[in-house]
Amino acid sequence: MKKILVTGGAGFVGSHLCERLLKEKNDVLCLDNFFTGDKRNIIHLLNNPYFELVRHDVTMPFFAEVDQIFNLACPASPIHYQYNGIKTVKTSVMGAINMLGLAKRIKARILQASTSEVYGDPKIHPQTEDYWGHVNPIGVRSCYDEGKRCAETLFMNYHNQNNVDIKIIRIFNTYGPNMHPNDGRVVSNFIIQALKNKDITIYGDGTQTRSFQYVDDLVEGMIRMMGTENFIGPVNIGNPNEFTILELAQIIIELTGSKSKIVFFPATADDPTQRKPDISLAKKELNNWEPKIQLKEGLTKTIEYFEGLIKEGNC
Ligand code: NAD
Ligand code: UDP
Repeated sequence: MKKILVTGGAGFVGSHLCERLLKEKNDVLCLDNFFTGDKRNIIHLLNNPYFELVRHDVTMPFFAEVDQIFNLACPASPIHYQYNGIKTVKTSVMGAINMLGLAKRIKARILQASTSEVYGDPKIHPQTEDYWGHVNPIGVRSCYDEGKRCAETLFMNYHNQNNVDIKIIRIFNTYGPNMHPNDGRVVSNFIIQALKNKDITIYGDGTQTRSFQYVDDLVEGMIRMMGTENFIGPVNIGNPNEFTILELAQIIIELTGSKSKIVFFPATADDPTQRKPDISLAKKELNNWEPKIQLKEGLTKTIEYFEGLIKEGNC
């Protein structure tokens, strides 16, 4: 049995990861400040004696004896990370310093949840890990993009200078149950709008693309990455099937049988026009890892989740 710390464990991805780690008989310590996380995501785990919950902010030092750390703490949706950009930078940078300091002191292996946003509005397509990115350092997304880029820098420096056992994954757009209904991300927005027969809001002309990964595929990739011995990454973890935002809206209307109309609003600032991971490195290093759940199947499960929230009056 391993003792594993998951920062951001009450969030969307973190809650799925905690559940999977407990299923695999690990002792899980979930740390969260509940900025975007929700106790409802982990309430069913609270009776498990191998699950502990700590309310803590990663910008402050933390101490615990663990074997592994998954560092996920950071708001992920543009609305949430732009709400307080300074805090977002602090969470990524000071959070990384605090968690790397802990990993160094207790000799734990530590995995950083980095992001495809380090590629910015990419000029090469699909994105490979050796691409340095095209990020506006003073734009509205920079608190997140640059914060995550600096966290990667810190991880590499702690590895090179202090021999810390690090792993870096770059996560591409991921969706599934436990996404926050108000976090403004495209999949949750469109599903809720479709289920309520409200207008589907496309920002821009809908030709921008994203490649959507179901959360279970991400968690599998994270666990495989944590289990590697001589590979530190960074490695892309995403689903390479690319869709325009307009196609996504049409698929969600079809799957929900919605009467919603599609309406167009101005594009958001610095919105990446295309995004698709090259996952050759993940396949090679992570024992043939590749996404198993394709868009319609994953959306169907996610639609069921939001239908439940709406019925309970929680959305
Ligand atoms: P989320 O917002 O649902 O979860 C983030 C969690 O971190 C929340 O529980 C939040 O309360 C917690 N948190 C935020 N600031 C904190 C702080 N200062 N101290 C302690 N806890 C804090 O987001 P998510 O989608 O679950 O993303 C998890 C991680 O994966 C993030 O690091 C994100 O950048 C990364 N990621 C996610 C995606 C995606 O599509 N979901 C894509 C790329 C990267
Ligand atoms: N988007 C949209 N309507 C919405 C929410 C998002 O058209 O209601 C667009 C957004 O402008 C972006 C894409 O969908 O082009 C993905 O947005 P999201 O916030 O989910 O993720 P990110 O931009 O971080 O990839």
